Amino acid sequence: MSKKNSLTIKCPRCGEVCFKTQKKCSDCGLIFERLNYVTNRAGKIAVVRREKEKILRVTNWPTDVKKSKALLLCGFFGIFGVHNFYLGRYVKGFFSLIVTLVACVCLMLENVIDYSVFYSSFFFLPTGIMVIFWWSDFVLIALNKYKIPVAIDTKMFHLYNKETFENLDTNNSIENQFSDEVNMNNVININEKSNKENKE
Ligand SMILES: [Zn+2]
Repeated sequence: MSKKNSLTIKCPRCGEVCFKTQKKCSDCGLIFERLNYVTNRAGKIAVVRREKEKILRVTNWPTDVKKSKALLLCGFFGIFGVHNFYLGRYVKGFFSLIVTLVACVCLMLENVIDYSVFYSSFFFLPTGIMVIFWWSDFVLIALNKYKIPVAIDTKMFHLYNKETFENLDTNNSIENQFSDEVNMNNVININEKSNKENKE
């Protein structure tokens, strides 16, 4: 089992299991080499803008976030979902934050108004889920199993690929460089351009 795992990787975009020897995902065409240029910063921007096609979910730590910081945030403030905000899992973060805040308010008012029976039964499930999220996240972060949203960072990509980019149309955005299919179109475009130039 472990031998098989070491030979394969799971595509962070579509979940397809691919061999490590493959250069790109056999299902969605993601070029695995591009994973060297992902950051959590770019991932967070994509999450906020709801650009789902850009978001990749990885379990290895991107260079711009630290595991130790995530563990500390989760351990001390995980009940408020702080580690989820730090790593860009905003939906999970807001869930934990709201459930905890509402539960706190109810606990404070418990002595003032006697509706403890209603609220304790009403919040039993969400509070339980929140606590399970909190503890399981801590274990997942510690074991490098927590899925971190990342995206290809244009700045980083340009920094390392200046030479290849000089040969391409400068208007080409990172999305156009995302998969081989589109790259082929670029090549065709460039060929067409050079053909035109040759004719002229
Ligand atoms: Zn894929």
